[in-house]
Amino acid sequence: MENTELIENNEVNESNEFIGESLEEVQTNVFDQLQEYGFLDWFVTGFVSILVYIWVWSILWTTKDISSRTYNIFLQIFSIVIVAVLTPVFGLPIYFLIRPNRFKFDQIYWREALAILVIKCEYCGEHNHKDNKFCVHCGSNIVTTCKECKSIYPKNNEYCYKCGAPNLELD
Ligand SMILES: [Zn+2]
Ligand SMILES: [Zn+2]
Repeated sequence: MENTELIENNEVNESNEFIGESLEEVQTNVFDQLQEYGFLDWFVTGFVSILVYIWVWSILWTTKDISSRTYNIFLQIFSIVIVAVLTPVFGLPIYFLIRPNRFKFDQIYWREALAILVIKCEYCGEHNHKDNKFCVHCGSNIVTTCKECKSIYPKNNEYCYKCGAPNLELD
């Protein structure tokens, strides 16, 4: 009889202990265990490392990107400082808004580069290779001879490419 009572009491005590263990205590225990094995330190170190990695990568990428878009040194420094100080989370979106459009920059550059290689025929308006003497579309003469050095150059050039003498045929 006494034995049975003892067993019953024990059971009651055990179940009371289990119920008494609140959620907070369980969380604290898990936290303690993780800390014991060094998991938390490892996690925090890893997380901070990834953040620093993304930060440094963003600064390097911005430096590379803005250098290819503008020669303006102030805009270059401003862009890098924005990403470095405001962090990639706030800095990069601002940078995307203020950075110059490379597509337009390229277009202007290539238009100027092509204009040097091409002669526009003054009679029919078609384009010719810079070495052509006659227009391949209408047969007109598209070059002139320098009065000073006798070099041959496109009729609509204002100056001789070789000696710098002015084109007298151009009015
Ligand atoms: Zn022509
Ligand atoms: Zn000349």
